[in-house]
Amino acid sequence: KPKDYQFMLRLKQPAGELAPDLFLLLDDLSEKYGQGDLRATTRQCFQLHGVLKGDLKTVVSSIMNIGSSTVGACGDVSRNVMTTPAPFTSPDYEAAREYSKVFGHLFRPMTTAFSEIWLDGEKAATVETWGTEVGEKFKVDEVMKHDTGRGVVLPHSVEPLYGDRYLPRKFKIGVTVPGDNSLDIYTNDIGVVVIMDPANPSEVLGFNVMVGGGMGRTHNKENTFARAADHLGFVPKDDIMELMKCILAAQRDHGNRDVRANARMKYLVHTLGIDSFRKLVESYFGKDIQPWREMEPWKYADWMGWWDQGDGRMFLGVHVDNGRVKDEGDFKLKTALRVITEKYKRPMVMSPTQSILIRDIDPADKDDIDTILRSHGIKAIEDVDPLARMAMACPALPLCGLAQTEAERRMPSYIERIRDVLAKLDLDDEEILMRMTGCPNGCARPYMAELAFVGDGNDTYQLWFGGSPVLTRTAWPFLAKMKDVDLEKSLEPVFAMFKAQKHQFEAFGDFTHRVGAAKIEEFCKTYDNV
Ligand code: SF4
Repeated sequence: KPKDYQFMLRLKQPAGELAPDLFLLLDDLSEKYGQGDLRATTRQCFQLHGVLKGDLKTVVSSIMNIGSSTVGACGDVSRNVMTTPAPFTSPDYEAAREYSKVFGHLFRPMTTAFSEIWLDGEKAATVETWGTEVGEKFKVDEVMKHDTGRGVVLPHSVEPLYGDRYLPRKFKIGVTVPGDNSLDIYTNDIGVVVIMDPANPSEVLGFNVMVGGGMGRTHNKENTFARAADHLGFVPKDDIMELMKCILAAQRDHGNRDVRANARMKYLVHTLGIDSFRKLVESYFGKDIQPWREMEPWKYADWMGWWDQGDGRMFLGVHVDNGRVKDEGDFKLKTALRVITEKYKRPMVMSPTQSILIRDIDPADKDDIDTILRSHGIKAIEDVDPLARMAMACPALPLCGLAQTEAERRMPSYIERIRDVLAKLDLDDEEILMRMTGCPNGCARPYMAELAFVGDGNDTYQLWFGGSPVLTRTAWPFLAKMKDVDLEKSLEPVFAMFKAQKHQFEAFGDFTHRVGAAKIEEFCKTYDNV
């Protein structure tokens, strides 16, 4: 019998937007051609697992024909552009959404190869509609092809920005407003923060731009590392698209194409240092980048539960455990979302933390939507364990070829086990942001978490501490090769030290960051209560 090959297929949904008809289509496709569930990713899009090779063309063309896309969801190009998922209608949030689509459109691949392979040569532009509106409004195609004379645009290439070799590696962009770090903005190659005009708060003044974030690393290779982005500076509104092109061109021309493990732009920024990297970008840009503008402090919010949207309507954040939208026993999340979507036809927004927001809800429908969710076994957000609410895990085994151990399937049991340890120490009220991945590639951004488990062999994890509760710095490895059975033994002494020595209101990640590995190790040696 010939082998069956199965694939994971990922959508590109700039700003995480998901029209009601697209959700219904994906629900159908997952039943007919996938493994029956959907996976909300950490980059605000859906993945379908288990699509057989022979069905790929049908699935891809169905997605394209409904106006969505899979182009650039993988590969060495700009990936899905993320933004804060909160669908507030204030001008700053509107601008963050709009510019994330502008950047997605600006950096979309232009080749016709995709449509030749998947759509029998029909032009993708006739079916992929998500960028059309912003494309026309912001004259994106003209900007994309505009040559500054400094080599940003490659005039004779099918791909004016990517050239004939694309980028050295994948490229990630995030956009948000000051204070809202719901998307882990420091993990992107480029992070963009909308700055409104203080003299006219409904107008965008410009953008703070950060560069050089990224998660992926390899075990035992010290020249690979997770990195939080550096602040590049500020540009006025009219310069932002040109600046984005210049940063991309700097990575295209100077990124490491010899060693793939060091090909992300974070290594270029790290090697040059932010000041020299800024000079490199300015050599394309033709002018100075202004100093970073001071902003309000960052906060982390997951935007779960009910919120006023700002226009008389509401949005509802529905927590999805580790991103898996499924029906299992009395828990029927997939069916509940289908029932709500068929009845109310409201658009959704995928969250950067593997959950889903339903937007534009009439307040009069709130109670009925709650009733639908409860009757399908979905808890109100107040009843979800805060550890589970904040946690993320990548798919890992059995779905990812790079996985060294479990993640998504293991995380629920770790939450229970860690909850028990915290209860034993009378630390029930602590909320700790935890993440788990099946390998060091870091898809669930473990290196930003307060407490992370990174797969390092069968049933074995590296233990990482020290990330910030507002996701602004990277963590550090505390323990190598922690066996699954040693979870309690490894964590209880650290939690006990946290209880004994933390400052008032100090978060676990801030505590471990403050005291450092040496003091924690010292304390662990003296602790014999496990
Ligand atoms: Fe796969 Fe590793 Fe990414 Fe997890 S972190 S999905 S195991 S590549």
